[in-house]
Amino acid sequence: VQDEPAALEPQISVRFYDKLDGSFEVPVADPSVTWLRQVHGSEVVVVNFVGQHRGASADAAVTIVPGAKLAVRTADCAPVLLTGIRQHEVVALGVAHAGWRGLIAGVLPAAVGALRDLGAETVRASLYPSIGPECYEFGGAELDAVATVLGDGVRGPKVDTKPSLNMIEAVRASLAMAGVDDLDVSNWACTACDAERFFSFRSRRDAGRMALVASFGEPRLIHEVGS
Ligand SMILES: [Zn+2]
Repeated sequence: VQDEPAALEPQISVRFYDKLDGSFEVPVADPSVTWLRQVHGSEVVVVNFVGQHRGASADAAVTIVPGAKLAVRTADCAPVLLTGIRQHEVVALGVAHAGWRGLIAGVLPAAVGALRDLGAETVRASLYPSIGPECYEFGGAELDAVATVLGDGVRGPKVDTKPSLNMIEAVRASLAMAGVDDLDVSNWACTACDAERFFSFRSRRDAGRMALVASFGEPRLIHEVGS
């Protein structure tokens, strides 16, 4: 029997705070939010009580604790929601911040492994807004480095004859290597293309960040992008 994604959603609360919501400081000020000092690595924190590991140096967080809110901040990097499923229920949640360095470092397989350690039998992923392939002009050497790890599918279309990185495909390839084939991109949008809704460091040098916040319970604003 296939899991029905729609039936799972009321179990969790997911909110993507964009530019229209103001600064990411708003959700991060909440003491029940585990936010991270993101370092483009593969460290994952396991949150065993509400608010644990606030400000830890890591790029992903997972939990099974009701009320614990997990947050990652992004401007162009990929914010990824991970749900760990067992017997048709979400038994563990995770969020990850995945830029090209983190993808090479293996932050997504590390987070998927942490969810499996918490009892997930299958893991589903959902990608939130990040910079799109048409807008992500990228250095050739760096692109080769990403392609070496994640395959040539990460090579985006040329942007004014320059190489570009297709981060969506990089996320998809990294998850596939971790055995996760279920990537929902219905909440994705390009951060560079929509200056009203999104901060973009790469395209506009914006200092602001968006925040992806996920928790069990509080079935409000589920999978809602923006306000
Ligand atoms: Zn774009």
